[in-house]
Amino acid sequence: MKNASFIPLPLLFAMALLAISPRLQALSSADYLPADADLDPSVPTPESALGWEVGDWHVGHDRLVQYMQVLADASPRVSIKEIGRSHEHRPLLQVVITHSDNQDQLESLRQEHLEGEGPLVVWLGYSVHGDEPSGSNASMLAAYYLAASRSGFVNELLLGTVILIDPSLNPDGLDRFASWANQNAGRQPVGDPVTRQHVQNWPSARTNHYWFDLNRDWLPLVHPESRARIVEFHRWLPHVLTDHHEQGGRNPGFFFQPGVPSRQNPLTPDENFELTRELARYHAQAMDESGQPYFTEDAYDDFYFGKGSTYPDINGSVGILFEQRAIRGQALNTTNGLETFRDAVSNQLSVSLSTLRGAWELQDRLKAYQSGFHRAMMDRAESRKFDGWIIGDDGDPARARALLDVLDLHRVTWRPLGEVFSAAGQRFQPGHAWVIPARQKQAALIEAMMEQRTTFQDNTFYDVSAWTLPLAFNLPFTTVSRMPKTTESPVANRGNPANKEARAWLVPWRQMEAPRLLQQLMDSHARVRSSRKAFSANTTVGLIAFQPGALVIQAGIQNPAHREAIHAVLNEAALDGLEVFSVDSTLTPAGPDFGAGHFPLLRPVRPLIVGGKGISAYDTGTAWHLLDQRLELAAPVIEHQHLGRADLRDYTHLLIADGTFKEMGLTLEGRITRWVTDGGILLSQGRAATWAESLCFEKECPAEEAQPDREIPSSRAYAEFADDSARLVIGGAIVATVADLSHPLAYGLSRPELPLFRQGTTILDPSENAYATPVRYATDPLLAGFIGPVRLDEMRGQPAVIAERQGDGLVVRFANNPLFRGFWRGTEKLYINALYLGQIVQPTVLPRVTGAPVPEPEPVQQ
Ligand SMILES: [Zn+2]
Repeated sequence: MKNASFIPLPLLFAMALLAISPRLQALSSADYLPADADLDPSVPTPESALGWEVGDWHVGHDRLVQYMQVLADASPRVSIKEIGRSHEHRPLLQVVITHSDNQDQLESLRQEHLEGEGPLVVWLGYSVHGDEPSGSNASMLAAYYLAASRSGFVNELLLGTVILIDPSLNPDGLDRFASWANQNAGRQPVGDPVTRQHVQNWPSARTNHYWFDLNRDWLPLVHPESRARIVEFHRWLPHVLTDHHEQGGRNPGFFFQPGVPSRQNPLTPDENFELTRELARYHAQAMDESGQPYFTEDAYDDFYFGKGSTYPDINGSVGILFEQRAIRGQALNTTNGLETFRDAVSNQLSVSLSTLRGAWELQDRLKAYQSGFHRAMMDRAESRKFDGWIIGDDGDPARARALLDVLDLHRVTWRPLGEVFSAAGQRFQPGHAWVIPARQKQAALIEAMMEQRTTFQDNTFYDVSAWTLPLAFNLPFTTVSRMPKTTESPVANRGNPANKEARAWLVPWRQMEAPRLLQQLMDSHARVRSSRKAFSANTTVGLIAFQPGALVIQAGIQNPAHREAIHAVLNEAALDGLEVFSVDSTLTPAGPDFGAGHFPLLRPVRPLIVGGKGISAYDTGTAWHLLDQRLELAAPVIEHQHLGRADLRDYTHLLIADGTFKEMGLTLEGRITRWVTDGGILLSQGRAATWAESLCFEKECPAEEAQPDREIPSSRAYAEFADDSARLVIGGAIVATVADLSHPLAYGLSRPELPLFRQGTTILDPSENAYATPVRYATDPLLAGFIGPVRLDEMRGQPAVIAERQGDGLVVRFANNPLFRGFWRGTEKLYINALYLGQIVQPTVLPRVTGAPVPEPEPVQQ
């Protein structure tokens, strides 16, 4: 990417900016950099390319890319690789900086490095949270310094080091924030944190396009930004990786790791923590020299391996988290006085350079640590009582394939099962199960992805406390004490074509891709029915049993004008590997024939996602992502303050995620309840479910219930508060539930045991209807992670999902987000069922029983 043309902004513009405020002195790049930098004047400075001094304005992603290209054009030390694209098609850059002699030999240097020889490799990663932009702005200065400095240190460093700069881990978020901060910037800086420049609209720019936190996606790899990055991470396996963030206003100082020692993940070797502490000495020195306050070993941790500073730790690298105080504009009033965005940029630059200095001086230890890491982890695997894991496909090869794809990206080795194998009461079949040997290079990472830890040294977590991947995908799995036979050749999943002359086509609903096919069929004007009963059918490939939820597309009832297109959709899906069965007769050997009343027609769905201030953008984003990306279904999002202007009759579903619902007015609630009783389907999650419980669907609504008497707790020591509250928080854990497979919301599940992700403490108000609870927590629910005893007791056996008919409509309450972070593919089905099959949930009101039970009536004889 050396062909970009660069057009400098008019000089006049730059000069106007210099005049903004006498208090905020402009800083040229040289002012930011070490005094001994000895900068080569032929290398263009950021300000010469941007037209402003770094820190005066927030750099947008296009300009950031442009500067890196200018630098690569001008300096033989710099090359650029585009490693992928964000959702909004912004290039994901890897800026490679090393000595000019090394640039032509990057591939051989990389190979040497992976063999344990070769250069030091340092990865500097900036601003994964878009509204924490001091890192990305500092990346330009770091790159400039490394390209331009003629100092002895930089020369020596570059001879022996490959530096990989990721200037923006989240380009779409960065650009969103730059636009916000710049459009609200005045010529005079404003430091009041509650004013507009500092307070973003909903949703904030922290997240990526679909409002996901990319700093939680290093393990699940749902997004293109993470997928592109993980490939490069494993290609280069850096010795040190930095992760530059900003934090809210509570801590007055800059944070660098190590974090809280008791919250270190026990799977990470101690040596990693020691190296982190050694590197911290260099950051401390740099911050002391600039007089900046800082802290370590407090507040943050390296527990969840899906974060940028933690994932490296389970791969033989050392990940370092930096947290600069968030300025969010040009300047901020703080307890340290007025802090400026330039201060923030300067700090991020300082620790970038102290990382390079420290890594350079500690390179022998870092290299020895990395070389020994996989061996040490292999030894640890040897000492375990099992040989590996086995994972089955749960009758849904696509879901298993999705998990195997994630394993591939993490460079985990797996092999297809080669024999029928029983373990832990489960039976696994060749072609439908895979084996992951424990003894392999990625032994540590696999253990991190598979383990179900429920006891912890410390019960406070910065993020979730569990993420067991096969539970997230709801796939059967277990450890094996001896390795089963495996095979080389994976079984091809190519399906049978859909017979054009068939009387009907049948699609089992358990398949992960079946809902997308349903949507495509609806888009093709197909008349699709869903079975309420199990049945079997003589298909062109033999007698097949079908479970409730199976899609039935009867050829004879399709509009002749659409018939060919409908067959084409089915055939394409079939050739793609989806099971689509063709039948020559709609008479079934067992169960209802297709003309019976057990196959309700599915009407097209037109959902409306309700978001806006107070509603979780993360959870709203997971619904948007599901509909838009996975179901290919239009997913309009409306902010709740505009809901009054929407004609709700245009929509079949309202989807509302967790949030606080104080701002919703009663008139609107009246409209929503009328829309539901007229046939609308309301999907609510977390506290939105609690809000839904407050809706009144009756003609006469009761007055608010009196508050219960307040309870006076016994006294506790003041210092116990933090631990007491940690025990009451559910930061994220995996719990066992039991699904009612006869309920339409559970159609497609093949087992009643359904692992579910629990975050937050919403408890659903139980239904008075005995048939309206498709999913309940098990009586002994904890599968992995931390939930305190009080929280655990209050959820035992309680409802996790309730679906109640109200008039002609349905209110579905999820206590948790079944789409958590887009990787809970197992419980995704519940949400999809509410979307497509909610319409077939029938009223279940029993006749009133008063006094003695009425005797059963005699069966009607005809
Ligand atoms: Zn952050």
